[in-house]
Amino acid sequence: MSRKPDFKYILSQIHGAENLLNCYACGTCTAGCPVRALDERYNPRKIIRMVILGRTEILAGDEIWLCTSCYTCQERCPQDVKITDLIVALRNLAVAEGHLPPGIAMQSKFVAEFGRLYELSDFDNKKREKLGLPVLQISFKEVAQVFPEHSKSKDKETEK
Ligand code: SF4
Ligand code: SF4
Repeated sequence: MSRKPDFKYILSQIHGAENLLNCYACGTCTAGCPVRALDERYNPRKIIRMVILGRTEILAGDEIWLCTSCYTCQERCPQDVKITDLIVALRNLAVAEGHLPPGIAMQSKFVAEFGRLYELSDFDNKKREKLGLPVLQISFKEVAQVFPEHSKSKDKETEK
């Protein structure tokens, strides 16, 4: 178990996580969380306690990726802890440390390449036409421009 006592101070400098230290562990966030309602292992209060206790292993785990960003917890927190924004800050730190779950990495790749979360092909469009549905644009090059790292790797592939 890794402990980093200043973890909470580092995070509270990040936009959205400023009020982290206001948490008095009331559990309102967990009580209203729809993900928690489906899976008792998920617990936003626990995520905050882990941060306060300097438990940096939270960055390598699955929990921070289960949040749906519904903002229920953030709206209800009596201490104005921006829980959803804090989880986004944790995700950003996790990615910076190389902890990107394979499923999320794949989704990012699809969004960068196709402008959507899944690949659409000519085959799909033919099926749509048969059903009387409009043909959809297959990819959006403009979207790739907001993924500079992805564009660089595509350029390298093209140079080969
Ligand atoms: S609702 Fe707010 S104060 Fe209560 S446990 Fe969650 S983050 Fe802490
Ligand atoms: S924003 Fe995330 S942690 Fe908060 S209630 Fe919604 S799913 Fe749960």
